Amino acid sequence: MKEQIKTFLKRLGLYHLLQSNYRATLELLTRSKNKLAYNKYKGSGFTCNYCGAVYQRFVPHYPAADIAESINSNKVIAGYGENVFCPNCMSKSRERLIKVAIDNFLDVENKELLHFSPEKKVYNYLKNKARVTTADISPAFYKNIDPSIRFADATKLDFADNSFDIIIANHILEHIPDDMKAMKEMFRVLKDNGVAILQVPWSQSLTTTIEDPLIDDPVKQAKLYGQKDHVRIYTLDSYTTRLGKAGFKVKVIPYSALMQFSMHALQENEPLVLGYKT
Ligand SMILES: [Zn+2]
Repeated sequence: MKEQIKTFLKRLGLYHLLQSNYRATLELLTRSKNKLAYNKYKGSGFTCNYCGAVYQRFVPHYPAADIAESINSNKVIAGYGENVFCPNCMSKSRERLIKVAIDNFLDVENKELLHFSPEKKVYNYLKNKARVTTADISPAFYKNIDPSIRFADATKLDFADNSFDIIIANHILEHIPDDMKAMKEMFRVLKDNGVAILQVPWSQSLTTTIEDPLIDDPVKQAKLYGQKDHVRIYTLDSYTTRLGKAGFKVKVIPYSALMQFSMHALQENEPLVLGYKT
């Protein structure tokens, strides 16, 4: 029944919009609840680099039962852990990492920037600094973040060559069956001196990327890849090799170099993956 309602709403073009509003309401409720619950942890510890709030601990986020085995047994760095959400503004560790990258490793001032599947905190921070174009394959899902978001199939981008100084694709490529095609497209629309932030979840224990193009079933995908809409689990090696084949000069900033920002409660062991055109 649930799936039938979903299909019906999708046909009407309402599903993603309703889901987006539902999620925004849920976030507001969770945020109020967390703020109250974490009042006792205020002061000395982690500082949110978006809202400036300081807490001894942030809100943990653990994988749900149907995906936990895949995430845990493959030691996937996927945004779970002890200190994930800021209790005050609900920023996630993956959003705080992007701000660390923007503030310390990139120059975004007045640049042309393409932001895929825009996260609210990241987008709100960027929109006053750079000329941001947001895009997603289901734009309705992000309308409440940026009303002018446009449709984009990452494997077939409707942008001219050399259009952007910066691309942010934060946990995008693990959703795309033909990821090489999407990487090549991102490379194509990047300007010659441009740089892309290309974070994905990856396994710290697997020796090769796991994927199977024949699997198109959310239940199996959740069990195998740790999320119902993921199509693989990368290893860092195979991921950066693919980016290289797509043309990128890849620079991995290891977690050891990011530890100086660990007061922002970043995801432990997650490096920054940057792709340069030249
Ligand atoms: Zn915050």
